[in-house]
Amino acid sequence: MQLATKLIHAGVEPDPTTGAIMTPIYQTSTYVQEAPGKHKGYEYARTQNPTRTALENAIAAIENGKFGIAFSSGMAATEAIMHTLQPGDEVIVSNDLYGGTYRLFTRVFAKYGIQFRFLDLQNPAVLKEAISAATQLIWIETPTNPLIRIIDIAACANIAHAHRVKLCVDNTFASPWLQNPLDLGADIVVHSATKYLGGHSDVVLGVVVVNDAQLAEQLHFIQNSAGAVPGPHDCWLVLRGLKTLHVRMQRHCENARQIAHFLREHPAVKQVNWCGFPDHPGYFIAQKQMRDFGAMMSFTLNDDRLETAHRVLSSTRIFALAESLGGVESLIGHPASMTHASIPREERIKSGLSDSLIRLSVGIEDVQDLIADLKQALEKI
Ligand SMILES: *Cc1c(COP(=O)(O)O)cnc(C)c1O
Repeated sequence: MQLATKLIHAGVEPDPTTGAIMTPIYQTSTYVQEAPGKHKGYEYARTQNPTRTALENAIAAIENGKFGIAFSSGMAATEAIMHTLQPGDEVIVSNDLYGGTYRLFTRVFAKYGIQFRFLDLQNPAVLKEAISAATQLIWIETPTNPLIRIIDIAACANIAHAHRVKLCVDNTFASPWLQNPLDLGADIVVHSATKYLGGHSDVVLGVVVVNDAQLAEQLHFIQNSAGAVPGPHDCWLVLRGLKTLHVRMQRHCENARQIAHFLREHPAVKQVNWCGFPDHPGYFIAQKQMRDFGAMMSFTLNDDRLETAHRVLSSTRIFALAESLGGVESLIGHPASMTHASIPREERIKSGLSDSLIRLSVGIEDVQDLIADLKQALEKI
């Protein structure tokens, strides 16, 4: 089945009692048993919920994986993966990372004796040197946030597996429409479904997809034990979002292409980070592992001051100044003071996040309106 068909149909069966074509929202905390232990597979809603099961099956199918496990947020999904590790284990992490993930790793899990090493993995050969006997997991984002760097998933998977290390890919930025890491050799895919999967900025949810039954069992155990489960209504919202993922992504990508070119020509703009430019250092890998170049981009200004960036950020009228990404509406953000504020400035600058860096999540509005909006905002400099 092709991906566009799977997005509509995978994991979803007509409701057995009524034939309802859409999965009902099973808003219940418990299920009646006929006799102690005699039930239809559902006992308590932290453990199982049919709306959640439908979502988990759908997302697994869409990522070409066997098992989907849903959590109450992308961070809860990430946390669950970390709970599979032991004190003394080491994780190698790509250094251009979602700020919340950096915070979870360095402020929460580091104190339980898990070591994190942050490296620029644009050249995967770096991994060969870096992997030690303690390394259990490699964690990457690609395209990276917010510098839109590209990491070669297949190359990382090969190196990881040669050392019996697992590779996890945070696929939030690309979405399954653009990239399927399990097909490229990754062991774990994690999504903040809050972004493109939900797609309408109305829900917070996370998912993990794996192929390994033992790992899936471990994650289900953590899901039930720690209890960071999404509610049925939230699961339903993401199920609904999935059905238009392909149509939204096509428009997101089309709009982004035009905006990237517009920005690149603009005299106030110094550099545009978007992986669809043939001179982008990751262009060929992006072409190899992604179906299109995505709708996330960032750019710097010739005038690299924080205040100048702030002036642009508060001047757009259609691009809303907000955290997050991947919704139908266009968003503009300032990593240095928003999503990446929890990364110390020194470290931030070192990894290439300058003060004037502005990030765009290009929505699916009319692209001419979006370009006109950016144009007038850049005139305020
Ligand atoms: C938003 C985001 C997360 C965290 O997800 P939440 O749903 O906000 O908890 C993780 N990784 C990336 C790349 C994100 O953009």
